[in-house]
Amino acid sequence: MTHTHHPAPADAEARKAVKPVICYPNETLPVPDLPLYRAAREGAEKTGEVLVPARDAACFEVPAGHFFRISSVEGPQVGDLNLWNRNDLSERFYSGKSRALHGTHLTSGERMWTSFPYLRPMATITEDTLEWYGMDAYGGSVHDVIGTRCDPYTGNLLAGSQYHHCCHSNLTRALADHLGVSLVEAEPHVHDVLNVFMCTGFTRDTGQYFMKASPVRPGDYLEFFAEIDLLGALSACPGGDCSSEHSSDTAACHPLLVEVFAPAAGALEGWSSPPVNGYDRSHGR
Ligand SMILES: [Zn+2]
Repeated sequence: MTHTHHPAPADAEARKAVKPVICYPNETLPVPDLPLYRAAREGAEKTGEVLVPARDAACFEVPAGHFFRISSVEGPQVGDLNLWNRNDLSERFYSGKSRALHGTHLTSGERMWTSFPYLRPMATITEDTLEWYGMDAYGGSVHDVIGTRCDPYTGNLLAGSQYHHCCHSNLTRALADHLGVSLVEAEPHVHDVLNVFMCTGFTRDTGQYFMKASPVRPGDYLEFFAEIDLLGALSACPGGDCSSEHSSDTAACHPLLVEVFAPAAGALEGWSSPPVNGYDRSHGR
């Protein structure tokens, strides 16, 4: 963005040269015990799977202490992931705070955090076959928490369209069907997502949100450890690999596979599901 209306002050360069500080130094974040999780995963047994159809969504449940894996199958495809506490849908994934704590994109060892007043880890990423990608020359990376979820309202705002298979609508239908409630009841539970496999960033010159063809290939996966009982919904985005456009039926799209794994009894010795946040909620009164 440019603001030519207001001239720069004499010390503009000095002010712009001030070094940034990290908003939330995360050295004090509780560190997940990845070696324990990975050891538990080795002896884990698959308990179920769901194939999310292209341009559609599906729900799945993962008990605390179990694992789930999202895999690319058939062709490059990105997914929009929502997570809730299975026992209380008001506790759900908080994309903005996860971004503030970990950065614009998530990978192994980082976590998906829940909304206020809970603010606790709900899922820990244990494996990411795209972790090699890092940050590219455009400032792009994978699995972002900077986008929202594609939705029909923005399409209508920008182009007057009525498109019904954006991730927002896919997630709404899947949640309604899973809970046995109406679309009107389900829709407010849908929230900003973890953009699984999506390659995104902000342009350095204009600061605009960009996407580019995902580097994901069939066989790639992102795997999570469920810290609490989870209800998940995953949409196979109508953007396909997001190389061109979304919010239409133009892009080549593929399904995504979700698999759930249960560790062997005793494999998580020493681990316990994290408690809700310790703030006393008195808010100064
Ligand atoms: Zn989408």
